[in-house]
Amino acid sequence: MTAWRRMVVAVDGPAGSGKSSVSRAAAKALGYELLDTGAAYRALAWLGLERGTDLDDAAAVVALLADFDDEITTDPDDTRVTVGDTDVTAAIREPRVSSVVSSVARVPEVRQRLNEQFRARLDAPGRPGIVAEGRDITTVVAPDAAVRVLLTADERVRLARRAGELDDQSAEEIARQVVERDRKDSQVVDFLTAAEGVTTLDSTSLTFQETVDALVALVRAAAR
Ligand code: C5P
Repeated sequence: MTAWRRMVVAVDGPAGSGKSSVSRAAAKALGYELLDTGAAYRALAWLGLERGTDLDDAAAVVALLADFDDEITTDPDDTRVTVGDTDVTAAIREPRVSSVVSSVARVPEVRQRLNEQFRARLDAPGRPGIVAEGRDITTVVAPDAAVRVLLTADERVRLARRAGELDDQSAEEIARQVVERDRKDSQVVDFLTAAEGVTTLDSTSLTFQETVDALVALVRAAAR
């Protein structure tokens, strides 16, 4: 049991559930920090691509960890990701990274190392609370968080939202990538069903603002 020193809000969900943007808006509304855990997996995948590492080779991925020096800022108004001296904030969102990130995320040593980094961050001094979003925050990283939410939406709606975010690719191509990434990721962690004690927030028929308000309301209720 971790006794977190501040309010920890854990948010999990599949690609296109609105997890990132909803978590960011809720963190801003609450005056909290935001920890985007997917950014760390993406940063490691980016490093592997830079080095020409075979990301299907788990031992080669583990070797990358030796000099993986990532920094992720937690200000929801200005989230920056760096690896060493390189700012990779934009690069880690490129399709070439999205299409290989699941390969690094399935390596147990990677998950262990990043989970330690995440937990240290959640417990660090800072704003009175922090929203952490990912795939296994409610179950593995912070199962003792005061608020644990699984953000879901019907697949059709998730794919449409994702297509709206990335307008430089065709809708069919994005749909194919999202479905494939969810399929690979769900072999490693179950983020499609809520664990015991986790609140499901289904955004299928909610607007963006309604979803943010619902998350903020859950946090305010827990803080009382
Ligand atoms: O959330 P985002 O789509 O940026 O995450 C990128 C990838 O990082 C996911 O597809 C998954 O492979 C991995 N991930 C993970 N566990 C987390 C967060 C992300 O395995 N907590």
